[in-house]
Amino acid sequence: MASQEDIFKKLIAHCKEYGFVFPSSEIYDGLAAVYDYGQMGAELKNNIKRYWWEAMTLLNDNVVGIDAAIFMHPTTWKASGHVDAFNDPLIDNRDSKKRYRADVLIEELVAKFDDKIEKEVEKAAKRFGEKFDEDLFRQTNPRIVENREKRDTLHARFAKALNDNDLDELKQIIVDYEVVCPVSGTKNWTDVRQFNLMFATEIGSTADGAMKIYLRPETAQGIFVNFLNVQKTGRMKVPFGIAQIGKAFRNEIVARQFIFRMREFEQMEMQFFVRPGEEMKWFEYWKQFRLKWHKALGLGDHKYRFHDHDKLAHYANAATDIEFEMPFGFKEVEGIHSRTDFDLSSHEKFSGRNIKYFDPELNESYVPYVIETSIGVDRTFLSIVAASYEEQALEGGDSRVVLHLPPVLAPVKVAVLPLVKKDGLPEKAREIMNELKFDFKTVYDEKDSIGKRYRRQDAIGTPFCITIDHQTLDDQTVTVRNRDTMEQQRVKIAEIYKLIDKEVNLRNVLKKLGE
Ligand code: ATP
Repeated sequence: MASQEDIFKKLIAHCKEYGFVFPSSEIYDGLAAVYDYGQMGAELKNNIKRYWWEAMTLLNDNVVGIDAAIFMHPTTWKASGHVDAFNDPLIDNRDSKKRYRADVLIEELVAKFDDKIEKEVEKAAKRFGEKFDEDLFRQTNPRIVENREKRDTLHARFAKALNDNDLDELKQIIVDYEVVCPVSGTKNWTDVRQFNLMFATEIGSTADGAMKIYLRPETAQGIFVNFLNVQKTGRMKVPFGIAQIGKAFRNEIVARQFIFRMREFEQMEMQFFVRPGEEMKWFEYWKQFRLKWHKALGLGDHKYRFHDHDKLAHYANAATDIEFEMPFGFKEVEGIHSRTDFDLSSHEKFSGRNIKYFDPELNESYVPYVIETSIGVDRTFLSIVAASYEEQALEGGDSRVVLHLPPVLAPVKVAVLPLVKKDGLPEKAREIMNELKFDFKTVYDEKDSIGKRYRRQDAIGTPFCITIDHQTLDDQTVTVRNRDTMEQQRVKIAEIYKLIDKEVNLRNVLKKLGE
C-alpha cells in the first residue's frame, strides 16, 4: 500500500496536472510557499468562499460582510501587538541551507560555559565529599573563574547587541566563537537579519516622506477598525458579527507542506461582538456552528476534531481549533477564539477615539467582547481535495483517479459529451449545453473516446457527464453518468436540470446547517 507521504506527493502532482494549483511563477523555478490557483482551483476556491459567505451572512441575520483594504494605517499593527511581536534575528547556514535564530545559537553558547562550570563543581563535590565548600570553590577554582569570566564577557556582549539591535555584532559573536551548524558542521554563515512575520512596504514617494506600511498578517483588524462604521450605518445591535474574506500575508520561517503553510494566503474571518460576560455562551454557539459547517460537506465526521489551546494568547480567555485529518496528521484548519475586549480597547487607546457601544437595553456604554472564527481558504481547499482524492481499481484490471468533491463545490458541475463528432450530435450537445450553462458551470468535450472523456471529468471531480447519442435525436433523452457510482441512467432532456440541481445547489447544504 502507498504511504500517506506518497499519496500526498501524488495529490500535489494531480493538483498541478489538472489545473488546480501551480507553483507561483514556475517558469522562474517558483517562489517558496507561494502558489497560484489554476482554472479548476479558482472555481473550487470560489465555491468554498461562497459556501462560507452564505452560511455566515444568510443563515445568521445578525452577521454582515465587509471588504476592507489590505493596506492599513501602520498604527493598527502597533495597537494589535503585531509590530512588537515576532522579532527574531535569523541566520542561515549556506551549506545546509538551514535557518536558525541567531539569539538561540548564542544562548546555547552561553549555556555551554555554564555547563562547564557546573561539571567542575560536580567533580569537586565528589572528590571532597563532606568537606566541600562550594561557594569558596566557585570563587577560587582557576578553571571556574576563567570560564565564568569568558561566560560573562560573552553574555554582556550578547545582551548589549540585543539591546542595541546590533545585528552585525550578533553575527560577529557567532564568527568569533566559531559556532558551527549542527547539520553541515561548517561555519559558512549568512549575515543576521531581523525577522518579523509581517511583510513591509512603503506608501507614497520618498519626496513626500514615504510611510512604512505592512501587508496585513490577518484580516481581523480591518473588521475591528470598522466596528463603529458598520454598527452605526447598519444600525446593528449587539450581539452582531462582521464577516470578511481576504488575503493575508505572513513571512513564515519554515514554509512547507504545499498550500498548508503559505506566505500569501486567504482567510475567512468573522468577529462577533457580544456583551461582556456573555462571551462563553457565544463561544460555544460558534464552535458548534462552525463544526456543523465543516461536517455538512460530507467528507466524513471522523476527520474533524476540536483541539482546545493549552496556552492562551494574552488577550484570549478561551480558544479552540478545528482540526482536520490531513495526509500528514490532524492539523488546524480553523481557529475559534474568545478575544475579550483586547483589540477594540487597544484601538481606543492608540487612536484616542471612543469605540464604545451604547446598549439601549442596558442603558449603558461598553466595549464589546469578541468571539472570532478564523478559517483559512487554502487549508480548507487542501482538506477537501485530500479527502476527495481516490485511486480506484476497477473491474477488469482497469483503474481511475477520481476526485469525490462535494458536488456543491465541484469546479465543473456537468460535462456535455456528444458520443461521436458527426451525425448532428455535436449540434444537439451544444443546444443542451446552451440551456444548462446559465445555471451550472458546464464544459463541452468531443475529443477522444467516451471512456477517456469520462476519466478526464473524474479527475477534476465533475459530478455529472451527459452523453448525447443517436437515440437522443429520436426520443429527446440522454444518458447521465454519476461520477461516484459510474452508473448511467437514461433521462429526458427536460429533466436534466432538476436532476443536477438537486445535487449541486448550495441551498441543500445550507439547509442542513439551519436544522
Ligand atoms: P499555525 O499555528 O498553523 O501557524 P495560526 O494559529 O498562526 O496557524 P491563525 O493566526 O489562528 O493561525 O489563523 C487562522 C487560520 O488562518 C488558520 O486556522 C489557518 O487556516 C489559516 N492560516 C494561518 N497561517 C497560514 C499560512 N501560513 N498558510 C495558510 N493558511 C494559514
